[in-house]
Amino acid sequence: MKDYITKALVYDGYIRAYAINATETVTEAQKRHDTWHSSSAALGRALIGTLLLSSADLKTDGDRLTVKIQGNGPGGAIIVDGDANGNVKGYIQNPHVSIPSNEHGKIDVRGVVGTEGIFSVIKDLGLKEPFSGQVPIVSGELGEDFTYYLAASEQIPSAVGLSVLVDKDETIKAAGGFMIQVLPGADEVVLAKLEERLAQLPRVSDLIDSGKTPEELLEVIFEGERMLFLEEQPVQFSCDCSKEKFSRAILTLGTSEIQAMIDEDQGAETVCSFCNNKYHFDESDLTDLIEEITGGKK
Ligand SMILES: [Zn+2]
Repeated sequence: MKDYITKALVYDGYIRAYAINATETVTEAQKRHDTWHSSSAALGRALIGTLLLSSADLKTDGDRLTVKIQGNGPGGAIIVDGDANGNVKGYIQNPHVSIPSNEHGKIDVRGVVGTEGIFSVIKDLGLKEPFSGQVPIVSGELGEDFTYYLAASEQIPSAVGLSVLVDKDETIKAAGGFMIQVLPGADEVVLAKLEERLAQLPRVSDLIDSGKTPEELLEVIFEGERMLFLEEQPVQFSCDCSKEKFSRAILTLGTSEIQAMIDEDQGAETVCSFCNNKYHFDESDLTDLIEEITGGKK
């Protein structure tokens, strides 16, 4: 099954609901960064949360959204970038965290992320200034942190559930989640009904583990309610880095620095932190860059 997000309207359109299967996306991230299970779950949840936020907030090509989670846990910073077309890329500073399960027998994501720190979102919507919102980390489990961010920074009452299941061989067994947002004007009755639903909700990891599609996930959450399903959006791990982009970065170092790379290392290797792709610059590549600066070459 390919990864996608499904969107639906519930309670006469006062509730917007999103559900996602992101198993392939998190699998790709796990392979690229060689993450161990605890890091895989933390990065995976951040990827899923960012995809859900991007799907709700980004409308046009070129819109981007970056989620930065800087906690005090052993995982270090988690940085994830999403766009309007369902592309996501991201990394965790320490991909090799492997800690015991929590008291529920689940991966201890809070133990990876930490319980204190900053959760921030930067949205570039093509306006003059990017939007930026910042809240403290309140849980470290990340679903609650996305929920808190939406309530505190964007004034959107919501519920976010994120889950990543990792197999014994470190591969990703399943990854997915949901996001429910209450739109302005929803009355008390709707809010009370929603609260009741959420209180009875099975653990999201159990829903994901049972192989439910995004549509089925929403049907469990809103059992018996009329739902209007909107479009589906395919999602994937995808990075837009290129050798050309890294050349631009090397150019900014200046001629003497580039000459030093030639003299001392006979070349340079750059690594994209988001996707781990490596780009090699040999002596002639670097000489070309120097000539570009000095105007020795058209
Ligand atoms: Zn990249």
